[in-house]
Amino acid sequence: MKKLLTFILGLGLCASGFAQTSPASKSAAPKPAGPEKMTPGMTEIWDPEVKIIEAGKTNIEAPSDAIILFNGTDINSEWSDTKGNPTKWTVKDGELISVRGSGMIQTKRKFGSVQLHIEWKTPSDVQGESQGRGNSGVYLQELFEVQVLDSYNNRTYRQGQAGSLYKQHAPLVNVCRKPGEWQAYDIIYTAPTFGNDTTVYLTPPRITVLQNGVLIQNNVVLRGPTEYIGIPEYFIKPHGAGSLQLQDHGNPVAYRNIWIREL
Ligand code: MG
Repeated sequence: MKKLLTFILGLGLCASGFAQTSPASKSAAPKPAGPEKMTPGMTEIWDPEVKIIEAGKTNIEAPSDAIILFNGTDINSEWSDTKGNPTKWTVKDGELISVRGSGMIQTKRKFGSVQLHIEWKTPSDVQGESQGRGNSGVYLQELFEVQVLDSYNNRTYRQGQAGSLYKQHAPLVNVCRKPGEWQAYDIIYTAPTFGNDTTVYLTPPRITVLQNGVLIQNNVVLRGPTEYIGIPEYFIKPHGAGSLQLQDHGNPVAYRNIWIREL
C-alpha cells in the first residue's frame, strides 16, 4: 500500500513538474498536497460499542502435556526481559505483576502455532481511563497483540479494548469481569507461512480467542504485525518461531496460570 501511495504521489509530482515548465501555468501552479501524516486516532474505531455480556465463574487447569510457563512462584526459568536478562517484573502471592518502566517480558522458548491459556487481572484500584486503565497485552511470536485492558465500564475504541487483536479486530462481545477479578484467555494461534512473494503471506496468521470461556475472536486473519500508528505492513517480513511476550504498558496488571501447548 505504501509503495502504491508513493507511486501515485510520484505521478502527481511528475505531472506538476511538467506543468511548471509550461509558460501558461508559470505563475499559478499550486503545490500538490502530500498524503496526510498518520496519527494514532486514524486507526481507532469507536462505534458501535461492543455488546456487553456476563461470564461464567470458572477457569481452566493445565492438561498433562502442557508446558507450564508460570506456576505462581518461579519466573526466571521460563522468562526474561527482551534482552535475555532477568526481568524486573515481580512475583507476589502467586501473581506475576508488570512493573512500570521495566519493559516487556518474554519466554526463553520460542513458539510457532500454539494453544495458550493465560489468566490476568487488572488493578482493583481503578485509575486512568480508556487505554490508560489496566493496559497490558499478550504478544504471539513477538508480533501480534491480544489486548489486555480493563474494559469494564471503560470505553475505548472497539479494536483497542480487552480481547481485541489490537487495531485489527474488535472482540465479538465484551465479557470482561470487574477490575480486581481474574479473567482467562484461551488462545489458539496458527502461525503464518511464507512463500517467495513478500507482499502476501502464503498462509496468514490466524487467531481464535475465548475470554472467560466465551468465543470473542473466531479464527480471524491478521493482516500483519500489530501497529500503534498506521496500518499493518503490507510488505511482510518472513520470520520463524518467536517468544510469547507480555506487555508493560505502565499499569500493574497481574498474570497467573500460564500454560501452552505447541501445535
Ligand atoms: Mg496493550
